[in-house]
Amino acid sequence: MMTAYLEQDIKFLAGVGPKRAELLEKELNIRTFRDLLYDFPYKHIDRTKFYAIKDIPRVDAYIQFRGRIVGMKKESGGNGSYRERLLVWVTDHTGTMELVFFKGLKYLSQNLKTGGDYVIFGKPSDYRGAINFVHPEMESADRREESISAVLQAHYSTTERLRNSYITSRVIGKLMVTLWQNMNGEVSETLPEYIVSRHKLLSLHEALFNIHFPQSAVLLQKAQQRLKFEELFHIQLRMLYLREERHSVIRGFNFQSVGAYFHRFYSEFLPFELTEAQKRVIREIRIDMGCGRQMNRLLQGDVGSGKTMVALMVTLIALDNGYQACIMAPTEILANQHFNTISQMLRDMGLNIALLTSATRKKGRQTIHAGLTDGGIHILIGTHALIEDVVQFANLGLVVIDEQHRFGVAQRARLWKKNDHAPHVLVMTATPIPRTLAMTVYGDLDVSVIDQLPPGRKPVKTLHYYDNRRGEVFAFMRRQIEAGRQIYVVYPLIGESEKMDYRNLEEGFEQIRKHFTEKDGFSVIMVHGKMSAADKDLAMRLFKEGKAQIMVATTVIEVGVDVPNASVMVIESAERFGLSQLHQLRGRVGRGADQSFCILMSSYKLGDNSRKRLETMTRTTDGFEIAEEDLKLRGPGDIDGTQQSGVPFVLHIASLATDGQLLMMARHTASDILSADPALTQPENALLAHELQQQLKTEINWSRIS
Ligand code: ADP
Ligand code: MG
Repeated sequence: MMTAYLEQDIKFLAGVGPKRAELLEKELNIRTFRDLLYDFPYKHIDRTKFYAIKDIPRVDAYIQFRGRIVGMKKESGGNGSYRERLLVWVTDHTGTMELVFFKGLKYLSQNLKTGGDYVIFGKPSDYRGAINFVHPEMESADRREESISAVLQAHYSTTERLRNSYITSRVIGKLMVTLWQNMNGEVSETLPEYIVSRHKLLSLHEALFNIHFPQSAVLLQKAQQRLKFEELFHIQLRMLYLREERHSVIRGFNFQSVGAYFHRFYSEFLPFELTEAQKRVIREIRIDMGCGRQMNRLLQGDVGSGKTMVALMVTLIALDNGYQACIMAPTEILANQHFNTISQMLRDMGLNIALLTSATRKKGRQTIHAGLTDGGIHILIGTHALIEDVVQFANLGLVVIDEQHRFGVAQRARLWKKNDHAPHVLVMTATPIPRTLAMTVYGDLDVSVIDQLPPGRKPVKTLHYYDNRRGEVFAFMRRQIEAGRQIYVVYPLIGESEKMDYRNLEEGFEQIRKHFTEKDGFSVIMVHGKMSAADKDLAMRLFKEGKAQIMVATTVIEVGVDVPNASVMVIESAERFGLSQLHQLRGRVGRGADQSFCILMSSYKLGDNSRKRLETMTRTTDGFEIAEEDLKLRGPGDIDGTQQSGVPFVLHIASLATDGQLLMMARHTASDILSADPALTQPENALLAHELQQQLKTEINWSRIS
């Protein structure tokens, strides 16, 4: 067994030592031999082909050749663009090549030897009509023999701090060689033999070897496949196991009846006909809450698809069965709005609905606490304040979490403790999430989808303007206001640049007020997170009642705000927003009968990725399509989106953007195994049971609630 060897502190690996160990831990989270072994390369480069110098092509790709150093020269750049450079000339029997270095000159001139043979690896560049190489990798040809041979060379991620301490990708590769050579035996298998053979996977040992030292392109691909599968499989197994466990162990409240509240509301107060999708989803939820199990359901629906109404009707079912319900929203504005909408719709139903946010005064708070414990309050609506421990319910039967990606895992888990029994839980997403992400992050939830918008919606027209055309945009805004419409203007607010962002917001606000003066009958208001709850509330009310025509805001209005008469959304510095955020913002308009517009303002200089985001926005309004595109653009390395959702794991090698098929395979495999052996007690599943226990031990049991 290799366990003991791999669990050693990384500082004990030859070539590491305490100083490098500290850096490796800080920068790459590598603490043990095992961590290093699982530090997978981010790319591989074909090093099978060597070029003769005279054949080196002008290509935009990495190539390699062999050569002997025949001369070196340091030059100062005078007052030019560089301070000093080192020129190195190498030859083979076909010609001579010039190499140029600007950095690390001291190290290079000490280590490169005239007369020495090297393998040179880099990108050819065109310099005054000839080819040279700038900062190629140099490897002494005889030292190269020492390492484990590989057809493709692994490249490892490093950081600037690591590189400054000379821990480059190459150095990590060398450590990997040392690690592997001393390992002296097999890495023990972590998947049962029957899975390995059924899916024709490489053994873990072969996979780890070939990911670091690929013996062929095919083996590399198989290594990646095995490691990705395993990563996805364990997640799926855990998700499905928890779901099974919940289904079999945890008793849910049995909401047998759909009764008076539901029916009365439906026949007397429903303000519009429900869409077919809303009806279907309500039915799914009703069945789920009435079968004796605890519901844990994800409600997906595009912006504006009418999730609030579903939440409301489902809440009434809880009340019909004699239970209390609570609806939790991520912002105060949204909680207020839900409270207003829902109170309004239920006003003649004789129900006691309370609002609890951090702005609730002490006295009101005490009244609410009392009302919750004696059962006097039927529905509680609020923000994070809901999950404070002092908030106790008489009999909480249902929790609806709106736009849940804003709640952290731990926060959700606390709701669980509100009852002896587990309340039913309905999690609603703000915008659709890609299928692969849903299966991974919410893989233990059942899913309902509202795939239809209320009738009569005209798709929002989306236009992209550069900042220099602001005049036209103002003129357009004026015409819209004259036609009776209202307008949002949104500014980004991002943690790191908060100060400047607030300044931009203030300046923007002033500029708009200069164009749209009170003298001319315009009223412009501003809303941002630093305002008091009362001020925010007032501003929102003014806007909602049509007393202000323009609302200048930060993304506090991103989620859920509903003002049907607002038909223009201007997004400033749109290039700084993520796709799902843009889509969410755009969802604030297009709710009334009029044609709505979303105007994306950006600077002229745009990166590739920003440009694609803006293009996607102007091309489509389909939230599901945008979600997929978002995942693709973020790429496998970016877990921002998943971090936001409070995912308690990081994918090291699999990518939700590109490994959808493997994910399906992993999920089916996990599901098959659990249906044959739900508690994983069969001997052939011992490895899986062990791995699962490890995982469950090390993480808070977050999925119980969501
Ligand atoms: P979201 O799913 O983004 O939370 P909301 O619940 O805020 O959407 O609903 C958006 C708007 O659509 C609200 O003004 C709501 O009253 C309205 N709405 C919801 N369902 C319907 C329907 N079936 N017919 C007409 N309008 C509806
Ligand atoms: Mg909503």
